Formats: sequence, structure tokens, C-alpha cells
Amino acid sequence: MFDLSPLWISLRAAGVATIVTFFVGIAAARWMLTYRGKGKGIIDAIFIAPLVLPPTVVGFLLLLLLGRNSPIGQLLAQAFDYNIIFSWEATVITASVVAFPLMYRTTLGAFEQIDASVYLVARTLGASEWRIFWQVMLPLSYKGLVAATILSFARALGEFGATLMLAGNIPGQTQTMPVAIFFAAESGDMTTALIWVLILMSISMFVIIVVNFWSQSKQVTAPVKADKKTQKRPSNIDSRILESENHLIPQAYAAESHNPSQELMVDIEKNLAGFSLEVNFKATQETLGLLGASGSGKSMTLKCIAGLVTPDQGKIVLNGRTLFDSERKINVPPNERQIGFVFQNYALFPHLNVFENIAFGIKDLPIIQQQQRIQKYIQLLELEGLEKRFPSQLSGGQQQRVALARALAIEPEILIFDEALSALDTYLRGRVEQLLIRVLSAYDGVSLFVTHKLEEAYRVCKDLLVLDGGQIIEAGSKQEIFERPRTFKTAQLTECKNFSSAQRLDDQTVKAIEWNCILQVVEFIPDHLSYVGYRAHQFNFTQDPEQANTFPCWLVTISETQHRITLYLKLHEDPGTNKTYDLLVEVFKDKWFELKKQPCPWYITLNPWKVILLEN
Ligand code: ADP
Ligand code: MG
Repeated sequence: MFDLSPLWISLRAAGVATIVTFFVGIAAARWMLTYRGKGKGIIDAIFIAPLVLPPTVVGFLLLLLLGRNSPIGQLLAQAFDYNIIFSWEATVITASVVAFPLMYRTTLGAFEQIDASVYLVARTLGASEWRIFWQVMLPLSYKGLVAATILSFARALGEFGATLMLAGNIPGQTQTMPVAIFFAAESGDMTTALIWVLILMSISMFVIIVVNFWSQSKQVTAPVKADKKTQKRPSNIDSRILESENHLIPQAYAAESHNPSQELMVDIEKNLAGFSLEVNFKATQETLGLLGASGSGKSMTLKCIAGLVTPDQGKIVLNGRTLFDSERKINVPPNERQIGFVFQNYALFPHLNVFENIAFGIKDLPIIQQQQRIQKYIQLLELEGLEKRFPSQLSGGQQQRVALARALAIEPEILIFDEALSALDTYLRGRVEQLLIRVLSAYDGVSLFVTHKLEEAYRVCKDLLVLDGGQIIEAGSKQEIFERPRTFKTAQLTECKNFSSAQRLDDQTVKAIEWNCILQVVEFIPDHLSYVGYRAHQFNFTQDPEQANTFPCWLVTISETQHRITLYLKLHEDPGTNKTYDLLVEVFKDKWFELKKQPCPWYITLNPWKVILLEN
């Protein structure tokens, strides 16, 4: 009778080892994902070692660790009269140790694939780390986990060298299939060896095929069906947005009266390698815009407010509640701050549908209230009919509206938008922007709107802060900032295109050095004047060379957009073949057709009211 015991021993040992590595591997990967301490590389190398070391070496090390003469071995022998070596448990231990690296590494890879802003948004929606792990991380990485588990099982099943060293070859007790193969082949019984090889291969292949089949079938069905709907949908959704632009905000929402005491006070410092943030400002119920070039510290400021990054020093107070105070050692965790955060990339939970995404932050409410609340924001953001869709089945504009509904549903004390419209194309952006403006005008709390686009900030916000290099370089109403920027950086950010370094001559005149012009100005000349600026669309052409601030100019080249022509002009002299220019001037096409008929020089006027005087 053919002895089948190696099969049962192998399956049992590999099964138990897979269960053990499943939990230990996931725990190790979860820990490693956020570990920022010393020796990360070394710890990772130790975790991976059983995979790269020869199994006999692993077996030998286990012998040293668990053998009769090791402290552990002696303890077990004395306390329980038990010896691990050559026991069935030894096969489980070796199988677990060699399978662990595959479980750990594959799981870590799966965790790292998940968009980190999904975790951040989960925190702002009030989820604890434990809930994030169960409800976001595991579901989003389940495919990786399945792959990791299969690999671990296959590895555990095939382990030979380490098993032989630690568990030996005791038929019916520790003799696994790989060991049986080895000894059968060594004793010349090739038939038995072949049978075991075939059985081992079949089991491994069977498991892999079944699981692949299962996970593929799970993956395809849902999205494909709905894609057809997605294609039909956008047109009527968009027309609904258009229609609804004139509508009033739903009654329940609009009825809430504005609360004048809403206020956010921020005064913080954060030093990072190569960057330091130092900001101090107040925001009230009017939407405050944070405008700044990429890398100026906008997102960092918002993350500090949301508690996703801890400042080194300072204070954050929201509606009288201290969220952060370095002196008093107060640091309210993000899930208790009541902040609605809308990210540029939406950061929707991909495994949850629209309804569930919006529900994520209000799970603590009674079910009826949850449903009412979700319904309210589905209506407000015009998402009716999309409740069952998954994020992958929505357009960008729809996704961003879901993200907004999800943030609003927690009825936050503050709403934060981090370049929330930037990922949308121009058409959708306009639509979502209109909706956003309506929502914000009815919103009761503080709101911060971050963008690098002046136009967007101008339409959405009332007041602006201008950030540069981690500092607030200017603050004021949007009109002030646009019409009278004080600094060169702000003028650049607000799309001023003509600059010349400048010197004060007297109270009413400055010398524009590169332009080689004496300019009359009206505005008060600052002490540290370093540049003059002039906006490209504010020039005039005249026939009268005697007019103030009027200079002869020659055309160097032009460039054309749909409605306008940009003229590149050289002042005072014909540039000849030299292509350098002094001024960039934008005119409408009809003006260009008229100008083009006249020979150069043309005469250009800089309005004294519109010359911008800038500090560095
Ligand atoms: P933005 O204004 O484009 O939103 P950010 O606030 O994201 O800019 O970043 C501001 C600066 O901080 C950048 O120079 C960025 O490289 C740096 N920075 C962001 N996160 C970190 C970090 N974790 N460690 C070090 N530097 C960082
Ligand atoms: Mg940013």
C-alpha cells in the first residue's frame, strides 16, 4: 500500500504555516509601511533573508535558535519536557519562516500601491487607524494579499532543506513531500519520486489557477456593465448643472443662517529638509484663497491645519477650539478635528460606491440620519442616479462632486480645497466651479481654497494670501492683490508679463532701466522700489508722441491665440535682425488688423495709473 502520509503532513504543515505567515506577514508589512525610525533597511533585509539565504543555512540558524542547546530549547525541555527538533511542529516552523518573506514583501508592495491621499482623507473623515486598516487598506489590497498568500502556500509546500535540518525525515511524522521525493530518488525508487513530484506540482498549479480564476471573475463583472451607462450619462448631468445654475440652493441648506463668529487662526512653523514654512493668518466665513506657485507651501499649510502634518511650533485655533498648540502640548488628531478636505485627485475610496463613499465619515450617526444626510448632499451636488456607481465609473467632474459631498456630509467646521479643480479639463472645471461657488456661499463654516491659478482664486474667493517659499508675502482683497501687487513675485503670480528694474527719480517719476524710459507714475513710490510692472492688455497705441509715457516702438514678432494677438515690441529703435524685445502687448484681432496697416514706429502709451511699482 502506497504511503500517503507525506501528502497529509505537507498539506497540514503548509496550511498552518500559511495561516501563521498570513497574519504575521500582514502585521509586519503594516508596521513597515509607516515605520520611519532607524535601521529600516536592515530590518527589511532581515525579514527578506529567509528567501535569499540557502534553505540549509536557514535550517542551521533555526537549529542554533531552537535546538537542544539553545536557551529556548533548554527552556522547553525543562518546562514541558518537549523537544522541537524532529517534531511535526518543526516542519510548520521551517515552512513559516521560509514563506514569511513572500507574504511580507508582496503585502507591503500592495499597501504601497494605494494612493496615500486615500488614507489622509479617511483620517479627516474621522476614521481611526484601526478602521482605516480594516475598511480601506485591506479591501484595497486584497488582490495583493491573495497573491501573497498563494506564493506563501506554494513556498511552504515546497520547502525542503530547512525542513530536513530542523525536522528531519521521520516517515509518518515529519516526512513531507519534498523530503519523500529526495529520499525516494536517492534510494533509486524513481517511480515513487515521480508520483510525489506530480502530486506536488498538481497541488501548487491547482491552487494558483483556482485563485487566479476567482480573482479575475471578481474583477471584471462590475465595471464593464456600468461603463455603458457612464457614456450616456454625462451629457444630461452637465445639462442639469447648467440648468441648475439659476436655481436656488435646496431649502434646508440655504436656510441655515451665516454665523459671524466662525474663525480659524493659524500661526505655525514647520521645518523640513530644504524647506521651511512660516505662516500666520486668520480666515473667516468668507472663502480665503491661498495662491502660490508650485512648491510654495500651500499643501503643507493645509495639512498642518488638518492635522495630517504636525507643525514644529505654533498654534491653530478653530472657532475657539485649540487644535494645535506646541506650548500647551495640544495636538488634536485629524479624525477629531471636523475638517472637510477635498484633494486634487479626489481621493475617493475606489472599493466603495458613491453612496458608501459619502457615508464613510458619518458611520456613527443613526442609520436614518445617515441616509437623510447622504440624500441631502447627493441632491446638493447633483449626484442623483449615481449612488451605486464606483469611482472608476464616474467622470472627473462627478468624482470631484462626490468628494465634495463626502467632505460636506460630516458637516465640518472648516472646508479645505487643495487644488480641487486642477485635475479637471477646462469645460468641467467651469461647471464644477459654479457648483462649488454656490455650495460655498451657503456654507456656514470657514473655507480655504488653494490654487496656483489666479483666475480661479479670483472667481471663488474674496480675500487672498500669496505664498512664496513657505512665507506669506502678501494678503488682501483679491482686487487689491490683482490691481496693486506690492511684490515682484505677486505680480508674476497674477500674470503680469512686463517688468523692468527701476529707480525712483522723484515723487512722480521713476526710471525703468531695461526699457530705458522715464515714467510718470501716480501711485506712492515705495522706499524699496526695485521693479516696475505693466500688464500686457493695458497698453494704448496713440498717434500723439507728445502724450505722457509715450514711446516709439517697433514690432519684433507676433504670436496668435484664438481671440488675441501678442505683439513683441522693441522700444526706441528698430531691432533690425536682432530679435530682442522690451514689451509684450496683447491686443484683440481687430486692433491688430488696424495696426498692421501703419508703418513702424508706432507710439505706445503706458497709463501712469496702471504702472505697478514693486518691491523685491
Ligand atoms: P505646494 O504649494 O505646491 O502645495 P507643498 O506644500 O506641497 O507645495 O510643498 C512645499 C515644499 O515642501 C516643497 O518644496 C516640497 O518639496 C516640500 N515638502 C513637502 N513634503 C515634504 C516632506 N515630507 N519632507 C520634506 N519636504 C517636503
Ligand atoms: Mg500642493
